[in-house]
Amino acid sequence: MENSKNLKINIAHLYPKLLNIYGDWGNVLTIKKRCEWRNIEVEIDSIEIGDAIDIKKYDFYFLGGGQDQQQIEVSKELQKHKSPLQEARDENAVFLAICGGYQLLGHYYQPHNAEKLLGISLINAHTVAGEKRFIGNVTANCNFVTPQSIVGFENHSGLTYLGEDVEPLAIVSTGNGNNGQDKTEGAKYKNVFGTYLHGSFLPKNPQFADYLISKALKKRYKEEIELQTLDDYFEISAHNSLVNKKY
Ligand code: GLN
Repeated sequence: MENSKNLKINIAHLYPKLLNIYGDWGNVLTIKKRCEWRNIEVEIDSIEIGDAIDIKKYDFYFLGGGQDQQQIEVSKELQKHKSPLQEARDENAVFLAICGGYQLLGHYYQPHNAEKLLGISLINAHTVAGEKRFIGNVTANCNFVTPQSIVGFENHSGLTYLGEDVEPLAIVSTGNGNNGQDKTEGAKYKNVFGTYLHGSFLPKNPQFADYLISKALKKRYKEEIELQTLDDYFEISAHNSLVNKKY
């Protein structure tokens, strides 16, 4: 496909050695491929513990999921970058964070019988460990993408509660989502998106992947850029195989 504008997005994959369970790397791969299929160049930098983060470079930040132990390390490291990443948020950079990574974009995550893990408050939310682990498929309705159906797999004990200025990413129809109580799943604030949906999330929700690509391009080029349509037969087939499926 012609890319007359030589479009490009720069992605910072944050702490992939620590936060990358349940194939969450597949989300970065999906963004990469859906850009390359449109001849949009993608540069991906893996940011590890001790690395600098050049917020002037990046249009898109990704954090995967992780167990409590890995979250402890990432929580400490993220504190060094809290202000710059909040600045990146306010400059409309796109953030996608899955489960454990999502929890660290809020104010804190309080595990069972352990010290509170500080987040970086990109979104007004907090998480506390619940008594049971939510494991299973999730079907939910996201009102800012078309089609609105999103699916994925959850595996978390954390219960996330959203503050007043934070929209849920979606409303759950099957599964638990943020806390198994208020029917919300994930969170959206500015271009910061958090979700409990592993799987990985984006391959089976191509409309959401394209929504994020559009937001990242708009952040970089300061204008709406229409994406060429792709043949999503396999992505939609995978999506439909999970709709309303619990296990
Ligand atoms: N450790 C966190 C929890 O159990 C996040 C787990 C994950 O990323 N899947 O809620």
